[in-house]
Amino acid sequence: MTGDVHIVGAGLSGLSAAVDLAGSGRRVFLHEAAKFAGGRCRSYYDSVIDMTIDNGNHLLLSGNRSALEFLRRIGGLGAMHEAKRPEFPFADLATGERWTLRPNEGRLPWWILDSRRRVPGTRAADYFAPIGVLRATSSATVGKAMTCNGPLYERLWRPLLLAALNTEPADADAGLAAQIFRETLGAGGHACRPLVATGGLAAAFIDPALRYLRQRGVEIAFSRSLRQIQFSDGAASELDFGDTRISLGLDDHVILAVPPIVARALIPGLIVPEEFHAIVNAHFRIAPPPDQPPILGIVNATTEWIFAFPDRLSVTISCADRLMEEPRDRLAETIWREVATLTGLGPELPRWQIVRERRATFAATPKQNAKRPEARTSFRNLLLAGDWTRTGLPATIEGSIRSGLSAAAAIAGAQERLGRPRNAA
Ligand SMILES: Cc1cc2nc3c(=O)[nH]c(=O)nc-3n(C[C@H](O)[C@H](O)[C@H](O)COP(=O)(O)OP(=O)(O)OC[C@H]3O[C@@H](n4cnc5c(N)ncnc54)[C@H](O)[C@@H]3O)c2cc1C
Repeated sequence: MTGDVHIVGAGLSGLSAAVDLAGSGRRVFLHEAAKFAGGRCRSYYDSVIDMTIDNGNHLLLSGNRSALEFLRRIGGLGAMHEAKRPEFPFADLATGERWTLRPNEGRLPWWILDSRRRVPGTRAADYFAPIGVLRATSSATVGKAMTCNGPLYERLWRPLLLAALNTEPADADAGLAAQIFRETLGAGGHACRPLVATGGLAAAFIDPALRYLRQRGVEIAFSRSLRQIQFSDGAASELDFGDTRISLGLDDHVILAVPPIVARALIPGLIVPEEFHAIVNAHFRIAPPPDQPPILGIVNATTEWIFAFPDRLSVTISCADRLMEEPRDRLAETIWREVATLTGLGPELPRWQIVRERRATFAATPKQNAKRPEARTSFRNLLLAGDWTRTGLPATIEGSIRSGLSAAAAIAGAQERLGRPRNAA
């Protein structure tokens, strides 16, 4: 007889843990405070723009192996559009220049010797700047480890690192940036093909995961918010959801896959990151021009990335704390003016929606990174998951999926230490 697993939080980390444990012989329960799953990676019907949109555009790369494996397992991969080649078109709003970054497939980066594949105005030697980041000592910032100015920085390293870290790169943790380099450009172009959920995040990540779990007998409860955890003898002994209380047996486990501030309130003495950065997304209900690339990187503008969907154009702005208090209509007008210039569409503002996620991710600084806890806690049956735990990656889908796998593996490990095979019923 193996114990039950209670997973609290149905964001990607909780879903990832649940998918890994479903069918393992344990009963798995998923408890989510909201009326829907997905957390910060969700789709919803928006009556203002009268269409289903995502809270924010999410980009995966072909090197995000755990995220792709998750999608494959739940049957969501078909809902992702994967670019045939590792290509990143860019535009400079100030100068009107356009270029496409084209890394070659293999690990040896010969593409930097070919000026047609490089960023205009840069030399091959400039591309070695990230070596300083790869060699940086722990707690160094990117600003200490590499030069954070010049054409290549402004036109390549800053946009890529800002998108991945959601933190001004010069202030960001060099170790996290190094891991991004290793798993993307450093691994070769084959790890850099962009993937986008063109039919929405829910269709790729969330709905198939919920279907997968239900088919395997996982009980999923929405509108169930964990209020308190009782502890005794070094273990969690009861989960208090207000109207429902669940007593935990000796073999039962809990995976807390909630945001860091919620976890800190539930676990005595837990240290977590406590600084965050915002992401702003602006959605415009208008068909993109036929030649619009699926993703366009922009420099020298408020707009940072334009995502083209069949029925809308959608803009992402990272580390957007400065835009939180900006009046919404003014922000929509500013962004649309830029998008209209870049796409050749008319100046008339289409129907729009702005989604501001104030706490989109933890600030990826050395100080906040040092506060990220491991999956195991000081309580023997209580584990943590979430993009803010110690994954070695910034707050990304990939990190969040890996955190769920680590928590699930820790439970499997505990079982094996007790001499029970993982899949025994
Ligand atoms: C706008 C935006 C754009 C992004 N873009 C990208 C991108 O392009 N690429 C990328 O890789 N990543 C991106 N990310 C990051 C990615 O979305 C997150 O890393 C990931 O979704 C985090 O999942 P999680 O499970 O760790 O946390 P969450 O999604 O925060 O999940 C936590 C869950 O816990 C629930 N919860 C909270 N309190 C309780 C409680 N007391 N009881 C029960 N449940 C509770 C919440 O409702 C939520 O569902 C983006 C994030 C945002 C916000």
